[in-house]
Amino acid sequence: MAKVLDTPDGAVYVRPNSNREKTAMPARTGAEFLRGLRDTRALWLGGQRVTDPMDHPALRGAAEAIAAVFDLHHRYPEDCLMPDPETGEAIAVSHMIPRSKADLRRRHKALRRVAEFSVGLMGRTPDYMNVTFAGFAGRSDEWAANGNDEGSANLVAYQKQMARQDLSLTHTLIHAMSDKSKGHVPAGFDETQLHTVEKTAHGILVRGARVLATLAPFSDELAVYPSQPMPDASRRHALSFSIRMDTPGLKFICRDSVSMPDDRFDHPLSGRFDEQDAFVIFDNVEVPRDRVFCDGNLQVYNTVMSASWRANAMHQTMIRAWTKLEFAWGLACRMAEAIGASDPATLQMLGEIWSFAELARSAVLAGEEGAHEYGNGAWFLDDRPMDALRTSLPYWFPRVNEIIRLIGSHNVLATPASGAFADPDLRPLIDKYLRGAGDTSALERARIFRLGWDFAGSALASRNEQYERFYLTSGARNRQNVQMRADRTAANRLVDRFLTEAV
Ligand SMILES: Cc1cc2nc3c(=O)[nH]c(=O)nc-3n(C[C@H](O)[C@H](O)[C@H](O)COP(=O)(O)OP(=O)(O)OC[C@H]3O[C@@H](n4cnc5c(N)ncnc54)[C@H](O)[C@@H]3O)c2cc1C
Repeated sequence: MAKVLDTPDGAVYVRPNSNREKTAMPARTGAEFLRGLRDTRALWLGGQRVTDPMDHPALRGAAEAIAAVFDLHHRYPEDCLMPDPETGEAIAVSHMIPRSKADLRRRHKALRRVAEFSVGLMGRTPDYMNVTFAGFAGRSDEWAANGNDEGSANLVAYQKQMARQDLSLTHTLIHAMSDKSKGHVPAGFDETQLHTVEKTAHGILVRGARVLATLAPFSDELAVYPSQPMPDASRRHALSFSIRMDTPGLKFICRDSVSMPDDRFDHPLSGRFDEQDAFVIFDNVEVPRDRVFCDGNLQVYNTVMSASWRANAMHQTMIRAWTKLEFAWGLACRMAEAIGASDPATLQMLGEIWSFAELARSAVLAGEEGAHEYGNGAWFLDDRPMDALRTSLPYWFPRVNEIIRLIGSHNVLATPASGAFADPDLRPLIDKYLRGAGDTSALERARIFRLGWDFAGSALASRNEQYERFYLTSGARNRQNVQMRADRTAANRLVDRFLTEAV
């Protein structure tokens, strides 16, 4: 029987019981997205197999949040939708292959709309992978290197399909290493790492494991592509492809949920923004031939991420990070005002968050201003300000959480729940003893500090801090990488003057 469901906007829709049908369509609505999640994927959460995220209390809130992101595209079509260059149908702007600075500025508006929805708490909204694959398709020349013409053509066709079916993708880049002393990429052949087993009549059979598929319960497909180069690895590990989440043999093991019941007063963030993360096992999975983008081509695997991926993908990640920092600053200001905290220490901490937010905003704008063609007619950002942000954010975000907790002090824990406010005996006492500074009512104060705790102290906050520390590789590794990549010409000139002048 068909089910009647509430959408995040309060509208009601009817979801048929049929599984997803992959027919061409323009930008999807939230209801269409939710319908697509109902398949036979092997997804495990807390020891139980999940059949439909909408039926699971720990997943429903985030499923509705991602649905709201799809709906948001239709609410702001001037910012979020554009005609498909070939069919003319409306597709999400995040699928655009940027061909100019103006294109990047247009994409900025769409990415900002999505980032604002979750105030940057959901890092892997579908626009992340849309932007990534648009960048790959834009640099199909890189994917076609070393005789990989078929893989490159598959990728270009897939990116169009992604846009036209408006797919939601999760991805796994990272090898699931169990012994760090062996290095972070395979050396030689390692049967636990994702690898090709054999060719089949319709494609290739793969086996192994990868981390860490964020958004897995809310995705239509899983993409695999390279991360760091692996110069000494067996060719069998050099894989890139995309497959449906319900492909037989594919298994997703979710981490424990940090989601709370979707009560907008009690849990304003963790009721709906737990995007989930899952370990992925490929237990003899057949990948259709037309979905293989790289199979055994080590040269392609080791180079495609180095030239333009950062300059493209970080457009989405850094607009999200800037939005989150701006929100954090606004929230911290409200917390301080609610308790009349205007001492120098508090003002300094608020100014610190503002500085992070402003630096992030400036870096995004500098990246867009310095955008240029990276080859094949594809335009991406100046990657230097993006790299600088990438090395800084893993340290800034934990500090932001620390500041919010320092300003919040005990107040983040003295926050009656909505049920307590509803109790006729308690309410007058709460109103009297838990009011804030000036004319801040007890209800307003509780609301502000609940938001503060949900952002910086809750289980969701802890997961999010881990995300910010690691989702683009650890800050430590990134700092080493930028040091090895950076252009020293200007710095050398300044220093050399003092080293070459006569003593
Ligand atoms: C919440 C979350 C979501 C994620 N989502 C995804 C996803 O959707 N898709 C995906 O593919 N991956 C995802 N990842 C995985 C992520 O890409 C990896 O966690 C990341 O690349 C870090 O890899 P690593 O564990 O090898 O860390 P490392 O870089 O090895 O860092 C681990 C520790 O070692 C330290 N370290 C590293 N190198 C050095 C060094 N040379 N010297 C000294 N110390 C060092 C670091 O400081 C850190 O403390 C996610 C991770 C998290 C935490």
